[in-house]
Amino acid sequence: MGRTATAGEGLNWLTVAVVAFFHIGAVAALFFFTWQRLAVMAILYVLAINVGIGMCYHRLLTHRGYYVPKWVEYVMTVCATLSLEGGPIFWVSTHRVHHQLSDQEGDPHTPREGAWWAHTGWIFFGAALHSQTEALARYSPDLARDRFHVWLSKYHWLPLTVSGLALLGGGWYFGGWQSGVGMLCWGLFLRVTLGLHATWLVNSATHLWGSRRFETRDDSRNNWWVALLTGGEGWHNNHHAHPVSARHGLKWYEIDPNFWGIWLLARLGLARRIQVAKYDPANPKPAGM
Ligand SMILES: [Zn+2]
Ligand SMILES: [Zn+2]
Repeated sequence: MGRTATAGEGLNWLTVAVVAFFHIGAVAALFFFTWQRLAVMAILYVLAINVGIGMCYHRLLTHRGYYVPKWVEYVMTVCATLSLEGGPIFWVSTHRVHHQLSDQEGDPHTPREGAWWAHTGWIFFGAALHSQTEALARYSPDLARDRFHVWLSKYHWLPLTVSGLALLGGGWYFGGWQSGVGMLCWGLFLRVTLGLHATWLVNSATHLWGSRRFETRDDSRNNWWVALLTGGEGWHNNHHAHPVSARHGLKWYEIDPNFWGIWLLARLGLARRIQVAKYDPANPKPAGM
């Protein structure tokens, strides 16, 4: 699934068109600023990127760093689809392959094949990856057995579309057409575009820039500014060293809001069996590396 394998299949023009359209909408948002729309964007960003991608797709579904009741898992998975990063089976399988073959032949998005390839390019040539849910399912048999995850993997665009219509309709109802378009631009187009780049930076920047606490077999790094944008996913060298740990920030100054969210779920009695790696200066190399 490396560059050579997928490039022959050509560009996925639908993905290119959708991503381009969202970027145009993101620029248009700048002409419709209000504080209210910024607040709506911030709330939806946290739901999609922190609760959805970081806490659910990544730490819950891919690595099973903790467990929640099924209904909580499903609600969080719907939040993740609001990020336009595909359904759970696509995302989880792609990320499991990344961990298996990090920065080697077959890694879907390694900067060794170019920084832009790792950031965005691999998505545009990922036609086969994106649509072959059955082929991908062998990397996530746990999700492929779950009818809800299979269904949502097929209709992952549905919650995002409904949210867009709600933003447009709600804004229009309360403040006229300009308010509707403004809400759509901020709550959907700009919010999704910023979230995409934040997530993509984990694939590009944190395999290029930052410090390495652990001598892992890959190029992963701890990058503080990617951690700030993603709620803690930037502590990526810690994560490659301890992939199952639900906590990625191992020192007090490595802020990890996505783990705070998991801690909150535990306090509410909704999260259990939370795996937590601790940094041991006497034994800086993780076991098994
Ligand atoms: Zn990585
Ligand atoms: Zn991971």
